[in-house]
Amino acid sequence: MKKIPMTTPLVEMDGDEMTRVLWKRIKEELLEPFVDLKTEYYDLGLENRDATQDQVTMDAALANKKYGVSVKCATITPNAQRMEEYNLHQMWKSPNGTIRAVLDGTVFRAPIVLDCIKPVVSTWKKPITIARHAYGDVYRGSEMRITTPGKAELVFTAEDGTVQRQTVYEFEGPGVLQGTYNKDSSIASFARSCFNYALSTGQELWFSTKDTISKQYDHTFKDIFQHIYDTEYKEKFEKAGLRYFYTLIDDAVARVIRSEGGFIWACKNYDGDVMSDMVSTAFGSLAMMTSVLVSPDGCYEYEAAHGTVTQHYYRYLKGEATSTNPMATIFAWTGALAKRGELDDNQPLVEFARTLEQACLDTLSKGIMTKDLCNLAQGVEVHPVNSEEFLLAIRKTLEEKLAG
Ligand code: NAP
Ligand code: MG
Repeated sequence: MKKIPMTTPLVEMDGDEMTRVLWKRIKEELLEPFVDLKTEYYDLGLENRDATQDQVTMDAALANKKYGVSVKCATITPNAQRMEEYNLHQMWKSPNGTIRAVLDGTVFRAPIVLDCIKPVVSTWKKPITIARHAYGDVYRGSEMRITTPGKAELVFTAEDGTVQRQTVYEFEGPGVLQGTYNKDSSIASFARSCFNYALSTGQELWFSTKDTISKQYDHTFKDIFQHIYDTEYKEKFEKAGLRYFYTLIDDAVARVIRSEGGFIWACKNYDGDVMSDMVSTAFGSLAMMTSVLVSPDGCYEYEAAHGTVTQHYYRYLKGEATSTNPMATIFAWTGALAKRGELDDNQPLVEFARTLEQACLDTLSKGIMTKDLCNLAQGVEVHPVNSEEFLLAIRKTLEEKLAG
């Protein structure tokens, strides 16, 4: 069989531990035999980040900006214990944080769904994608513990010295106080990322806040989204037959539970944090959660939502075969290859990516699955396998599909 050629390189960011082991095997079994894989490789494994003073992470992020599409393996974010384990020069920052800062993006997380794994919510038929604004609000808040009676105020001093002042509360006893902020520019980036992603995936977009109570703060989010929609996206949405709709978060929660899925739910930072855990748990397993970072200027970074699966790696190092689920990592590759194909007008590459995804789903539908999924499967005879056996089973299904 002739391998599928690629024109523009994909930015490949290798990572750590069990996911690094799977990364290599996924390439060997499922990609390299079929695609003339063209990547610009960056080794974001912790040893190389340390050896390069973390320059490799910045280089990879800039390459992502240059080429537009990257695929990233899970990486260790060092803590005190990792400093010792890897004998690090410095407690390097989270690579995801570095890449996010360069791309200024929004994170979209969607579960991989299939018939034999039933979501807890029985009406859900299609994935629900959570778009989380990853900037500001309570994550960058300032807080104070109040211990005596007194007056709390909001004070804003403009550069020219003008002062705006508002009483928050006159405390008669102990209490708590919090100040949070966001920026129009960040909210606008969030909005554009969401509108672009909705168009590129052909899904409608919901956005919810608590604007009835938060008449300035949340209402600003609502207004910025609406203004950008009306002036930049309305026509494109109408042409694509898609809908943007805003609703109060209480109403959104009720609608999400009653829905069939198949839409993007944009959430403010805290709402997205909480709701994405709720949605992924209700759909099944962390190992089935895909994640893509989309920048407002249209750069894409695909990864798995889970980490490096450290406990499995320690067992792997002892020579044990582990049953680590490679699905989200495979889908990071297929997402990136399909997007590269789409941008390069390389239809065979797009088709290959979709076929590989289908081969994964077909393999699971036959009951061949890693241990994390076995308890969730319904209406199928389950055959638990280790990672290696699972990859070989996918390869076999893929070859059958490509031949037929
Ligand atoms: P984790 O690697 O996601 O693993 C947590 C647990 O979830 C595992 O112990 C395992 O449960 C289960 N699990 C996750 N992925 C799985 C898979 N593919 N197949 C089967 N089971 C899976 O999270 P963590 O243990 O909190 O973090 C480990 C390292 O990953 C840390 O160093 C952290 O910094 C890093 N991390 C990186 C990213 C990223 O790069 N995006 C994200 C999160 C964490 P059982 O042990 O019960 O089987
Ligand atoms: Mg959370």
